[in-house]
Amino acid sequence: MSLLYVPTIYVLMLAVMVLLGGLTFFAWLQNRAVRALAWWGGAVLVMAAALGLLCLRGVIPDVYSVDVAYMVLFTACALMLEGARCFEGRRPSPALLLAGAVTWIAACQTPALYESATARMIIVSAAIGLYSLGCAYVLWTGRAEPLLSRWPLIVLTAFGGGLFLVRVPLALMRPLAAVPVTSFEALQSFWFAIVSSFTLLFVIAINYLFLALTKERSELAHKRTAMTDALTGLANRRAFLELGEQRLKAPANGTVAFLLFDLDFFKAINDNHGHAMGDRVLRLFAQTLSANLPRGGFAGRLGGEEFAAIVSGPDRQAAIAAAERVRDSFAAAARAVDGVPVAATVSIGLAHAESEPAGIEVLCERADKALYTAKALGRNRVEVAVNERVPLVPDAPDRLVPASEHARGATKRAAA
Ligand code: GH3
Ligand code: MG
Ligand code: MG
Repeated sequence: MSLLYVPTIYVLMLAVMVLLGGLTFFAWLQNRAVRALAWWGGAVLVMAAALGLLCLRGVIPDVYSVDVAYMVLFTACALMLEGARCFEGRRPSPALLLAGAVTWIAACQTPALYESATARMIIVSAAIGLYSLGCAYVLWTGRAEPLLSRWPLIVLTAFGGGLFLVRVPLALMRPLAAVPVTSFEALQSFWFAIVSSFTLLFVIAINYLFLALTKERSELAHKRTAMTDALTGLANRRAFLELGEQRLKAPANGTVAFLLFDLDFFKAINDNHGHAMGDRVLRLFAQTLSANLPRGGFAGRLGGEEFAAIVSGPDRQAAIAAAERVRDSFAAAARAVDGVPVAATVSIGLAHAESEPAGIEVLCERADKALYTAKALGRNRVEVAVNERVPLVPDAPDRLVPASEHARGATKRAAA
């Protein structure tokens, strides 16, 4: 026991908390958009102030070392909760911010509560426990965002909060001896120092995790930006090729459709209606594509007016139907854009792979050839990549004709 000199522990705790709070504040100054850091840094600094007041018990009047000290401590807990809320995009709540401090002030005005060590212990434990559990809950509500540091932070705040709350029924079952509120010895006790030291380790751990959490989010945002096409919001070329390759590894039903899109006469749209209208048409196509892709489909912009999509699981006819749906919907949506008769259309090359290992490059090459055919045959149409699996059409023995073309020819003949 003589190894621990209690006042040294308090001085150390204070110094570490001021440092932690200051560093967190500094992190906020470097990136003011992350306002949660300001709440969190403020919380730790306010907690240091509360600890300072608590340590001076017996030295300064009780009204500061007890009444004000706990009020400040609860405010620090509330600031921490606001930090978590701010991180999850919630507005500050004055009610939550003041609840602990106001409850404490009310208790201080009630002699029966103020003089009972058990009642004080219950109020203190309940306030700290509830704020801590509140932090865990708020972070839990944001769990859809894939941030790894979130989980140890939830566990730690829930565990810490739980420990404080467990003290409530324990205090009710075994009321504390009436320790005078001014007792300096109570504060100097070995166990009080041990509990305080663990609290400090706890604060260090959750502060570190919170900093890691904000850093993870900003890294994720940068990664998303680097993978997203700024104009259309679809995956950009790099992301599409990377993620597309992964999707090809385990396609549903062992089949996959690769669709390559190229807007028709897009240069003329830019020339005739301006670049801004061209951009609007690109965005409209991206929306039409996303809205008409079958479930599980994945689309990206390869560059310029070229887009691609991977659909896992459709049979050949379903893939052709999906491509036709995109083509048809876009022709209808882009007939007039903002009242301007743009009449934009898209040509589509489709490659369909069945139970054969096909890399994204092979599929893209096949779809590209089909797209070339679609352009050559008049645009605003879907062509299916020719490969050894496509049967020869009897009336065109000199070349492989995709089933869709054959079908479309039949449809046209029927319509005529
Ligand atoms: P085709 O039917 O044969 O595909 O003809 P096209 O005019 O669509 O093809 P071309 O390759 O000649 O023209 C593509 C145009 O797309 C040229 C380029 O200025 C335009 N473009 C590329 N990226 C953008 C963009 O981000 N915004 C706009 N507005 N235009 C773009
Ligand atoms: Mg092109
Ligand atoms: Mg084009």
